[in-house]
Amino acid sequence: MTHDIIIIGAGPAGLSFARLLAGAGLDILLIEKQSEKILANPAYDGREIALTHLSHKLMTESGMWSRISSKDISLIKDAKVLNGDLENPLYFDHRKSGKENLGFMISNHHIRRAAYEVCKPFKNIKLMTGEEVAHVSTGLNSGEVTLKNGKKLTAKLIVAADSRFSATRRMMGISTDMRDFGRTCIVCKMKLDRDHDDTAYECFFYDRTLAVLPLNGRYCSVVITIATDDAHLVLDQGKAEFGREITERMEGRFGKMTLDTELFPYPLVGTYADKFYANRYALMGDAAVGMHPVTAHGFNFGLRGAATLANEIKTAHDLGLDFGSEDVLCRYHSAHRHATLPLYLGTNALVGLYTKTTPLAKLARKALLSLGQHIPPAKKMIMNQLTEAS
Ligand SMILES: Cc1cc2nc3c(=O)[nH]c(=O)nc-3n(C[C@H](O)[C@H](O)[C@H](O)COP(=O)(O)OP(=O)(O)OC[C@H]3O[C@@H](n4cnc5c(N)ncnc54)[C@H](O)[C@@H]3O)c2cc1C
Repeated sequence: MTHDIIIIGAGPAGLSFARLLAGAGLDILLIEKQSEKILANPAYDGREIALTHLSHKLMTESGMWSRISSKDISLIKDAKVLNGDLENPLYFDHRKSGKENLGFMISNHHIRRAAYEVCKPFKNIKLMTGEEVAHVSTGLNSGEVTLKNGKKLTAKLIVAADSRFSATRRMMGISTDMRDFGRTCIVCKMKLDRDHDDTAYECFFYDRTLAVLPLNGRYCSVVITIATDDAHLVLDQGKAEFGREITERMEGRFGKMTLDTELFPYPLVGTYADKFYANRYALMGDAAVGMHPVTAHGFNFGLRGAATLANEIKTAHDLGLDFGSEDVLCRYHSAHRHATLPLYLGTNALVGLYTKTTPLAKLARKALLSLGQHIPPAKKMIMNQLTEAS
């Protein structure tokens, strides 16, 4: 059967892309290996996603935002970045950003559920779940997807949103920068004894990084990044011991901190595709840009890319042009690369610097924070990059 567009992967990026394109009247097929039951009701996975103002706008336009209860949307008003000994933080004050807050926090499972729900009412978006794509190939005018069960499907354009380890990206011959950081990110939710004042803390200790991100009420999301060899030191801690250590590391500023969920480990690998397209094939979400979570941009970039590609396709289609042509895909590639590459490279450099413990690296870390603190244009530039404020 032939479709206009086949999207491989109904993760948050694939679903958001389908929804942003729904109004164009194209016949869209989403193929996802997970069951529809999981998409409709995803389990909590420990990820609390920091969202930018651009993501807020795109999620509002797509109807996702209003599907998430306001009690599940937290604000990040201010942010403090601390180096090693918690002294002299680099302080990002929302009042200097011209916005009421720097960003928002929403659990990944709420985002995924909302993305699924906004696609469901559209008759031109078909969802094929419990099916895995085994092979992709493309020709002059169309692409062909072969499912694991041998069934073949064709479309004028194939969009792969099949994760940072995208198997179809390799099949299409797109080389990718892959960086295994040798580190693991451990996330959980904690209860606090004192208010967090809607302030996010990113603490670069010498043995690990610790982010404490504000959630509604006296709760926070805790993100620990640690060498994979040492991850067991955290994962094997009992609830009380874990709570005591985080409380001490934060010098008691939130009073006693108590673990409220299990600990969720994620091995850290950054990926950046050399090209976001091939013949009749485009990459989307983490399959295009898989960020280290320290700058909290993976899904934000996924949404941005989804909007960019959807707009390019709509424009071409409205003009009666071929929406799967190289011109269209190349414009998406250029715009998305321009928007994402500086932060991808900057994030990796930051991660490199803040995980080294040599005396020179410690000096450079202090110098960098001081530069950010005392040079207002540098601080403003970092703030604009991180919040995607227009
Ligand atoms: C600890 C942590 C914290 C994070 N914090 C933030 C944050 O604060 N802000 C932010 O913006 N981002 C953050 N991110 C990143 C964000 O979670 C990801 O960018 C986002 O989930 C990626 O969505 P995706 O749809 O591109 O990919 P995925 O969520 O990986 O979805 C891919 C989908 O494709 C399906 N699939 C794969 N292969 C096939 C196949 N062959 N056939 C059929 N289906 C297939 C999979 O089943 C899956 O459903 C964080 C990530 C982590 C790990």
